[in-house]
Amino acid sequence: MRIVQVRCPSCNTPIMSKQKDRFFHCDKCNVLHVRDGGTRNVDYEIAEFSDSAPLGERLYVPFWRLYCSFVIRSKSVEGGYAFRLASWIKGSDDGGSLFIYVPAADFDTMTFKRLAIDFTVRSPNYRTRLNFGGVRRMPARVSSEEASELADFVVVTMEAEKPGVLQRLDYSLTVLGSKIVYLPFVSSPSGLVPAL
Ligand SMILES: [Zn+2]
Repeated sequence: MRIVQVRCPSCNTPIMSKQKDRFFHCDKCNVLHVRDGGTRNVDYEIAEFSDSAPLGERLYVPFWRLYCSFVIRSKSVEGGYAFRLASWIKGSDDGGSLFIYVPAADFDTMTFKRLAIDFTVRSPNYRTRLNFGGVRRMPARVSSEEASELADFVVVTMEAEKPGVLQRLDYSLTVLGSKIVYLPFVSSPSGLVPAL
């Protein structure tokens, strides 16, 4: 595999990467940056593993955490979705703000949906840490622009979760800000398990 070497834009330390990752992390000053034409620092945070994390191989999975405003223009109040909306949007029943979590690593569609919905419905609480502590991280493949386009897909998927109930919901979703969040997971025989 090709090894890529770049220099940290902040402290000039060489950074080696063996995998195709959008982001380069400097172990020395903890700056995360992306190279897409120019060099840009990426706003990010790293979540601490829970003390009760299951045993197994630890790894960090990058997510885009999109801060979104959500305005409901019209809706039909059948099927109880108003209640579900209210449970994950902070604000009134007609709109408000929410964090949408878009996995930034490569996943199959099922896993992508599961992770996006799990974290969007229950915004995770965690302590943050300054570095990865030697824990492997999955390479990020999704750009912030792509993540913003996927935000709609996450909402539609969440609404479609209840089978057999046709719902009409006319809304507008605006992404106001984005941040990369590395969430801790443990690799188990049954797949990735959150370790928050
Ligand atoms: Zn640096």
